[in-house]
Amino acid sequence: IAGNWKMNLSHLQSIAFVQKLAWSLKDARHDYSVTEVAVFPPFTDLRSVQTLISADKIELGFGAQDLSAHASGAYTGEISAGFLKALDVQYVIIGHSERRQYHHESDELIAEKVAIAVENGLVPVICVGETAEDLELYGPSAVPVRQLHGALALAGDATNIVVAYEPVWAIGSGQAATPEQAEQVAEQLRSVVAGVLGDDAGDATRILYGGSVKSSNIAGFLRQPNVDGALVGGASLDISEFASIA
Ligand code: PEP
Repeated sequence: IAGNWKMNLSHLQSIAFVQKLAWSLKDARHDYSVTEVAVFPPFTDLRSVQTLISADKIELGFGAQDLSAHASGAYTGEISAGFLKALDVQYVIIGHSERRQYHHESDELIAEKVAIAVENGLVPVICVGETAEDLELYGPSAVPVRQLHGALALAGDATNIVVAYEPVWAIGSGQAATPEQAEQVAEQLRSVVAGVLGDDAGDATRILYGGSVKSSNIAGFLRQPNVDGALVGGASLDISEFASIA
């Protein structure tokens, strides 16, 4: 269960938030060995979150929301995979629809980001998903499948990736896909992973559904054989709701 905070919560707010989230999960006797929970704060929070998680031995995972396709150098404003690794960051979201839309990230750039993440021992959480227009023109699977092929183009022999199927029309809209819709696309995405990275990677890869996930609809998604978890946006900012989803 992954919580994408987007551009919310300062580093001071992140400390109180993670502490309260850990307490809520502890109160509910959450078993992290059954359900992994990770938060994805803004870059400026990562050091605070790392310090707290390590000092208090909290079992939460954490990741970044993006990274640079470059290793280092004259790229003003960018954050390298090496910097993230040095902060014990485990995961990095790549190709979120908001980055594709507002920052015009192409499939080629996303492939470079996936490659540099994997080279540096970070687990990429590769986001794919169709817009409402794509859905009408091409059906639900064609665009996510094309995007995943693109994202894996330079992934070589990556063995540890996460794929998030996030229909753009479902993000932040309150209108989630149905569990059956999510399963239909997730099954095809798993075949893409198996085709490109091999059957073992296909079996081992966790496929998340994202788009208006709440505690009231999570169970339907997780009942699907090819949906292994969720990438949660808005509801990840509400501690009791996010803990309930987990
Ligand atoms: C997201 O942006 O990754 C997301 C799934 O958002 P929300 O849960 O708010 O739809």
